[in-house]
Amino acid sequence: MARRIALVGVGKIARDQHVPALAASPEWELAATVSRNAGVEGVEGFRDLETFLDARPDVEVVSLCLPPVPRFAHAQAALEAGRHVMLEKPPGATLGEVAELERLAREAGVTLYTTWHSRMARAVEAARDWLSTRTVMCAHITWREDVRHWHPGQHWVFEPGGFGVFDPGINALSILTHILPEPVHVTSAELDIPANCFTPIAARLSFSGGISADFDWRQEGEQTWDMDFDTDDGQMSLRHGGNEIWIEGERVTGSDSIGGEYPALYARMAELVATGAREVDLAPMVHVADALMLGRRQVVAPFVP
Ligand code: NAP
Repeated sequence: MARRIALVGVGKIARDQHVPALAASPEWELAATVSRNAGVEGVEGFRDLETFLDARPDVEVVSLCLPPVPRFAHAQAALEAGRHVMLEKPPGATLGEVAELERLAREAGVTLYTTWHSRMARAVEAARDWLSTRTVMCAHITWREDVRHWHPGQHWVFEPGGFGVFDPGINALSILTHILPEPVHVTSAELDIPANCFTPIAARLSFSGGISADFDWRQEGEQTWDMDFDTDDGQMSLRHGGNEIWIEGERVTGSDSIGGEYPALYARMAELVATGAREVDLAPMVHVADALMLGRRQVVAPFVP
C-alpha cells in the first residue's frame, strides 16, 4: 500500500520535481501540502505546519521543500511530532542545526534523510565504479549557470543562510564526495560577493589532491555542469550534472536530463522508512562551510535581478 506523505513549501522545486515524482510512484500518496500561498490540485492543503500535524496524524512522512533557513523549525516540529522527515538539499543553513535534527530523529526513532539529488544522476554510480580502481591525479569542476534563469525572484539565495552560488555548487560537491575513492578537503577559496548581497555569486575552490572548482552564477547562454578527472589510468568526465559519463572523450552512457533524480530519492526514502533507517551525510556541506571559513572575499558589482 502507498505510504502517505506531505509536501511542505510548494515552490519551484516542489512543482518541478517532487509533485511529478510522487505522482509517478506507486510507493507514495501525496496526501497533504503545507504552503502559505500555493497547493496541489486535488490534495488537501494547509496554511501552516502545526495545523497539518494536528489534523493529519495519518500522514507519517513529511518532505520539506523550503529554502534552508526556514527549514530547521519545520523539520524540528515534524520530528517532534513523530514524523519521518526528508530534507531538500542543502539539509540546513548550518551544520549544527542538522546535527540537532539527527539527534531529534534518533530520539524519536524516525527516519531523517538528507537528500542530495545530484548523487542520483544517471552516470554517478558508473563514475564511482570507474574511479574506484584508479588514483585521481587532478580534477576540475566547472559549475556555471545563470541565476536569473534558475532562481527568478528568489531573494533568499543572496540572504544569510541562502548559500549563494553554493546552492548549485553543493550539487557538484555532493557528487564529488560520493565518487572519490579518498576524501579531500578545501585548502583555499576565493569568494566574489556582490556589493548588495550577503552570499557569493561566484567562488573558486582548491582542494587537497589536485582538485579545483569554479562555481559561477553569472553565466548566460550555454550552462555548464561538468567534472573532469585525470587519473593514473585514463581520463573521465561527468557532464550535465552527473547525468552523462565520458571516458577518453567518448560518451559512454547517460542522457542530458535530471528526470531520474527525484524518483530515485523517493525510492530511497521509501526504503529508509521501511527499514527504520536514517541517512544523514553532511560531507558536501562541510566543504561549503570550510570554503566560507577559509575564503578570501572580494566585493564585486551589485547583483541586478
Ligand atoms: P522557492 O521556490 O523560493 O521556495 C520554496 C517554498 O518555500 C516557497 O514557495 C515557500 O512556500 C516556502 N518558503 C520560502 N520562504 C519561506 C519562509 N521564510 N518561511 C516559510 N516558507 C517559506 O525555492 P526552491 O527553488 O523550490 O528551493 C527550495 C529548496 O530546494 C532549496 O534548498 C533549493 O536548494 C532546493 N532545490 C531547488 C532547485 C531549483 O531548481 N530551484 C533544484 C534542486 C533543489 P509557500 O509560499 O508555499 O509557503
